[in-house]
Amino acid sequence: MIDIGVNLTNKRFDKDREDVIRRAQMAELNGLLITGTNVEESQKALLLCQQYQTEFPKFLYSTAGVHPHDADHVSIDYLEQLKQLALHDQVKAIGECGLDFNRNFSAPAQQQKVFSEQVALAAELQMPLFLHQRDAFEPWFAILTPYLDKVPAMVAHCFTGSKAELTQCISADMYIGITGWLCDERRGQNLRDIVSTIPLNRLLIETDAPYLTPRTIRPKPKSSRNEPSYLPFIVKEIASITGLDQEQIAWQTSCNAERVFDFPSTKEML
Ligand SMILES: [Zn+2]
Repeated sequence: MIDIGVNLTNKRFDKDREDVIRRAQMAELNGLLITGTNVEESQKALLLCQQYQTEFPKFLYSTAGVHPHDADHVSIDYLEQLKQLALHDQVKAIGECGLDFNRNFSAPAQQQKVFSEQVALAAELQMPLFLHQRDAFEPWFAILTPYLDKVPAMVAHCFTGSKAELTQCISADMYIGITGWLCDERRGQNLRDIVSTIPLNRLLIETDAPYLTPRTIRPKPKSSRNEPSYLPFIVKEIASITGLDQEQIAWQTSCNAERVFDFPSTKEML
């Protein structure tokens, strides 16, 4: 299993980051993709990959990008800084980037500008996109449309949209990231209804730790903090809803992640 969305730079991991990584390995994960949400966080994410390279070889990778919440605060040369980060072998995608009109922490026009620039950067560098979208599907999709065949892959991370939106993403050949949102019978019901329609070769799994702790973890953890070692609970939930085998989901999503993000092959590591 590969967790394609871990906010490992989050301060909630400051005290025991190494233990968190170790527990992920014990839970049979083969890799983590650390999410970069702005230039500084993307630098920190890369630094973690470098720092733990010897202790956890070929296990940590990162993304470089600016989250829509941070769009108002980009520096003049942020694209150049992202480009520099993307030169490193451990950086596997441009993102997290996208649009979030749910709370508009950044002005919508600025979100669209910063998002468009990063999409163009991904095309220029021929790197996959790690995408965020909330309450902005149409403008988000419109920005991506001209680039559908110009970037190697697009990943709709933490998908929580409608059936129509899912259909549109899949028709566009996007990959769909499923989080612990699926394990929430109240707000996750819509996702539970449509998860079976995601083709297995387009499915990716992610914890979005420290957020979105699966509500299905037993025994219930004392802390509300999510971590990558809980990824199997998401696989389990997908299996129980779709009727697919857990092993098959774990295997296929790992193959997908390896292909999209150019991770070392699981086969080689077995
Ligand atoms: Zn997100």
